[in-house]
Amino acid sequence: MEITGGCLCGKIRYSLTHAPTEVFLCHCRQCQKAQGSAYVASIPIPAGDFELTQGAAYLQAYRASPPKARYFCRECGSPIYSRLDGKPAIRLRAGSLDVPPPLKIKAHIHTVGRAPWDEINDDYPQFPGEESGRP
Ligand SMILES: [Zn+2]
Ligand SMILES: [Zn+2]
Repeated sequence: MEITGGCLCGKIRYSLTHAPTEVFLCHCRQCQKAQGSAYVASIPIPAGDFELTQGAAYLQAYRASPPKARYFCRECGSPIYSRLDGKPAIRLRAGSLDVPPPLKIKAHIHTVGRAPWDEINDDYPQFPGEESGRP
């Protein structure tokens, strides 16, 4: 089965060669701002497994902090993925997938920035910073 996704307006479309299995939930302040939400659900994917099939002209990067680029649709603003310079993985935004796959939560990370109303009520590992070793 082909795994596909895209932005809210449909200008950006992509496909994945492998079904993702794990997701990290990052509660840092930058992710809260970038998503307009409590945290980001990001899926590490080898960059070679991601193919942009439509809308390259709409894919824009923003760098809030130098080594990391956050890619989003310049038409509708949907976040698509982020990437650290020199890293082999991209971090796909889970909500951009067309059909939500059965992902396992690998860890909650950067929990020191968590909003007071963002209660974590599960038993998955929690890390105050980046210690989880995510790709
Ligand atoms: Zn869009
Ligand atoms: Zn974050």
